[in-house]
Amino acid sequence: MTEARAAYLSLGANLGNREETLRETVRRLAAADGVKTLAVSSLYETEPWGKKDQPSFLNIAVSLQTTLSPEELLALTQAVETELGRVRHERWGPRTIDVDILHVEGVERNSPTLTLPHPYMTERAFVLVPLAEITPDLVVKGRTVEEWRKLADDGGVIRVAGPEWIDVDGGARF
Ligand code: ATP
Ligand code: CA
Ligand code: CA
Repeated sequence: MTEARAAYLSLGANLGNREETLRETVRRLAAADGVKTLAVSSLYETEPWGKKDQPSFLNIAVSLQTTLSPEELLALTQAVETELGRVRHERWGPRTIDVDILHVEGVERNSPTLTLPHPYMTERAFVLVPLAEITPDLVVKGRTVEEWRKLADDGGVIRVAGPEWIDVDGGARF
């Protein structure tokens, strides 16, 4: 078996039943072959980034242990996005669900379809606040996630539910 690596995802939703869509996305990722969910953050409500004239988002961060390659993980996250009804594909526009791969342990990529670490992760409070909750000491681009979080303007990121908002695998914290 391929060695398992840690991977970190950012999930966001701003159309439909946002919380239920996030929950279902985590369930489907956790149920996929080669993926084990390690931690899921609290639930955060955030202002839109980039394109401001759209509904607010709910955002979370998720850490995984996976034997999938980064490309296979991207294929999985995109399949789940499609299954859950992501239709429009406008960059930074409204969406039922967006799953970005932030970082995969020991991996850098710069291909047309996959950039790792994710190019904007260190400047987005809506990514850093949930991620710092589940993995503050992870080092990405020369600083810990907690250091990056402190540098970000997190005024528009509001914690709306604690980690109990989601219950995967029958209550065990994975
Ligand atoms: P942003 O990437 O700035 O958050 P976005 O999430 O709105 O913008 P999408 O339309 O969801 O952008 O994705 C555009 C493309 O980005 C995808 O088709 C995918 O191939 C590519 N991509 C590159 N790097 C990554 C990554 N680390 N995680 C997810 N998608 C990525
Ligand atoms: Ca995104
Ligand atoms: Ca995306």
